[in-house]
Amino acid sequence: AYRKGGYHAVRIGDPFSGGRYIAQRKLGWGQFSTVWLAYDTRTSSYVALKIQKSAQQFAQAALHEIEFLSAAADGDLANSKCVVRLIDHFKHIGPNGQHLCMVLEFLGDSLLRLIRYNRYKGLKLNNVREICRCILTGLDYLHRELGMIHSDLKPENILLCSTIDPAKDPVRSGLTPLLEKPEGNANGGGSTMNLIEKKLKRRAKRAVAKISERRVSMVGATGEESSSKRERSLDGIDMRCKVVDFGNACWADKQFAEEIQTRQYRAPEVILKSGYSFSVDMWSFGCTAFELVTGDMLFAPKEGNGYGEDEDHLALMMELLGKMPRKIAIGGARSKDYFDRHGDLKRIRRLKYWPLDRLLMDKYKLPEAEAKEFAEFLTPILEFAPEKRPTAQQCLEHPWMNVKTMENVDAQMNNLHIKG
Ligand code: ATP
Ligand code: MG
Ligand code: MG
Repeated sequence: AYRKGGYHAVRIGDPFSGGRYIAQRKLGWGQFSTVWLAYDTRTSSYVALKIQKSAQQFAQAALHEIEFLSAAADGDLANSKCVVRLIDHFKHIGPNGQHLCMVLEFLGDSLLRLIRYNRYKGLKLNNVREICRCILTGLDYLHRELGMIHSDLKPENILLCSTIDPAKDPVRSGLTPLLEKPEGNANGGGSTMNLIEKKLKRRAKRAVAKISERRVSMVGATGEESSSKRERSLDGIDMRCKVVDFGNACWADKQFAEEIQTRQYRAPEVILKSGYSFSVDMWSFGCTAFELVTGDMLFAPKEGNGYGEDEDHLALMMELLGKMPRKIAIGGARSKDYFDRHGDLKRIRRLKYWPLDRLLMDKYKLPEAEAKEFAEFLTPILEFAPEKRPTAQQCLEHPWMNVKTMENVDAQMNNLHIKG
C-alpha cells in the first residue's frame, strides 16, 4: 500500500507543513489514511495528523471530509459539541504523490477498543450514560444545527477524549491506557469496504447475541467465554468522548449514496431503500448503546441457507422489536426482494420473538428494574417508522439519561469540590 497513489511513508521526526508539525508515532490507520501523533510547534501541543493516500479518489474523499469537519468546527467555536475538531489542513508532497493531510485534535481509544479491553462484558450503566450523553450531544449538534447526517455511527467511530499527556509518557505516548498498538484494519490497504466488513464479520461471529432456531445454538457461548476471563478495571478512564470519521457524512438535503452505514448499525429504511434522514443516526446510536451495555452487537446478521444477509437482518430486527408494520415493510424500493404482499418475509417464515427487556434480563442478567428502564429508553429509538424515533435532543431529556444514582450524585459533589 506504500506505493504510488497509496499511503505516505512517515518516519519519526519527519516535518510537515513547512516544519510546523513533527511526526511522533503512529496512532492508527484506515482504508484511506495513516494517522500520526504529531507535535505542533506553533501551539506547543500534540495533534493527530491524518495523512490521506494520494490517488485522486482518496484526495476527493479527504476534501469531502474536510468540508464536513470545517462546517462542524465553524459552528462550535467553544469546542463543546463532542465532535472531533479540525485544526488545520494542507497538502504534503512525497514520493507516492500529493497527500491531503488533516490536523485533528488528539483523541484516545475508540469505544470498540474500550469494549474489547473490557472483554466484551458490558460497561456499567453510569459509564454508558456518560458516553451516551456525549454521542447525543454530538448528534443533536450535527442534526439540528448543521443539517448533517453522520451516516456511519458505530463504536469504532467514537473516540474517548485522551487524558494522557503524550509528552509525559514517551513510551506509550498518546493512548488512553488501554492498548499500545496502533489501531487499524489488520491488513491495511486492500479493497475498502471489504476489509471493514471482514473484520466486523469476524467480530460478529464472536459476539452473536441471537435468538431463533437459526441461532439458538449460539446463545450462552459468549457468556461462558467472558466469565472465565479476568476482570479489568475501568477506573480512571474518562468516559467523555467525541464523534469522528466524517468520510461518509452527508447533508440531509444533499445525499450522496443510497447504501450507507456499516452493516450491523444499518437502519431498516436503508436496507429497504425507502429514503432516509437524521433518524438513521439514531438507529445506529441505539445499536451502539446496546453494545456498550452488553458487550454484544445488537444485530449481527449472517446469510444462511436460502436467504441473504439483508433478510436475516430484517428477521433479527423483528424478533427483537416485533413485526414490522406492513406499510413500512412493503414501502421501499427493495421491499419486494424480502417481503411478500402481506408484509411477511419471503424466505424466513418462522420468527422467535425475544423482546428487549427479556433479552436484557435473561441473557445479560440485568436486574429487572434496570432492564425495563433501559429498554424503555432504547425501544423508541429502534422504531421501524423513522419519523417516530426520538431526536437526539429528545433522548437527552429522557429520564434514563437523567437517572440520579448515589454514584452520580457523588461524582457531581466531587466535581463541585474540585471546581469550588
Ligand atoms: P476508515 O477506513 O475507518 O474510513 P480512515 O482512513 O478514514 O479509516 P480514520 O478512521 O479517521 O481513518 O482513522 C484511523 C484510525 O486512526 C482510527 O481508528 C483511530 O485509531 C486513529 N485516529 C483517528 N483520528 C484520531 C484522533 N483525532 N486522535 C487519535 N487517534 C485518531
Ligand atoms: Mg474509521
Ligand atoms: Mg474514514
